[in-house]
Amino acid sequence: MSSTATNMRTATAIAEIRAAVAEARQSGARIGFVPTMGALHQGHLSLVERSRRESDVTVMSIFVNPLQFAPGEDYSRYPRPVDQDDNLARDAGVDILFRPTAEDMYPGNRTITVTAGVLGADWEGASRPGHFDGVLTVVAKLLNIVLPDIAVFGRKDLQQAALVEALVRDLDMPVSIVLTPTIREPDGIAMSSRNRYLDSTERLHARSLSQALEASRSAYSAGERGVAALEAAGRSVLDSEPGVKPDYFAIIDPSTFTRRATADASSAAIVAARVGSTRLIDNISLVPDGQD
Ligand code: AMP
Repeated sequence: MSSTATNMRTATAIAEIRAAVAEARQSGARIGFVPTMGALHQGHLSLVERSRRESDVTVMSIFVNPLQFAPGEDYSRYPRPVDQDDNLARDAGVDILFRPTAEDMYPGNRTITVTAGVLGADWEGASRPGHFDGVLTVVAKLLNIVLPDIAVFGRKDLQQAALVEALVRDLDMPVSIVLTPTIREPDGIAMSSRNRYLDSTERLHARSLSQALEASRSAYSAGERGVAALEAAGRSVLDSEPGVKPDYFAIIDPSTFTRRATADASSAAIVAARVGSTRLIDNISLVPDGQD
């Protein structure tokens, strides 16, 4: 057990987590919240670390949210290593772990869904219809259940992060959203629960996503500003790896997720590709800012 390990409490029922958070709040604690789907890795744990730095009590949720998976996606086979996650969360210093059931989160009489709108229309939104509505609906529910002061999300899911910021802004939710940098493996691959699906050959092929992003960044730092040329630099890396089927590779303005003709220091490169049967996403800002 590490020195950060806590006496972690686990709550399953919504009433139970509400009571646990209310108790912590009564003693004046600032509440930090880290929502996840489990199969925890260092990326998730970096969110916990950030929450612990900026709050007194850290709540993590682990919930594989059926609403954000389209039919035919990996909902049923999504990894659920319960005991391992418990240990990692405890050792990272999570104070309260919330593991709701799908039945409690989505009782049969459910009728309201949060809609992502234009910011969620392209890229992940286009490739995964309904995905962001599912994400925003569960995030709104979790924020309303936990009522944290801050909630921590990874830039790894850049479009999701932008949508969550828009959610709390547009619906006036009283919580600060904190975004954190992407944690990578030593060879550059962004950590992801879905990396568990990759066999050793696919794992090698998967490096081309971050290599493609780096190629665009290098072209930008060499002076290229044309979005088409920057995208071509990245795509040629993906195309040279036959084990990878690109879904999209684009240079976008991360505040609107639209493409423009020319890139600037705020632009980001985003990629989604299938490696075998596994769909992976990644992104970087074209100018290194220590945030990706
Ligand atoms: P997930 O369990 O995949 O839904 O992710 C839960 C949270 O962890 C989201 O805010 C993700 O953006 C974040 N996350 C996932 N992978 C990483 C990573 N490699 N580095 C940093 N944050 C991550």
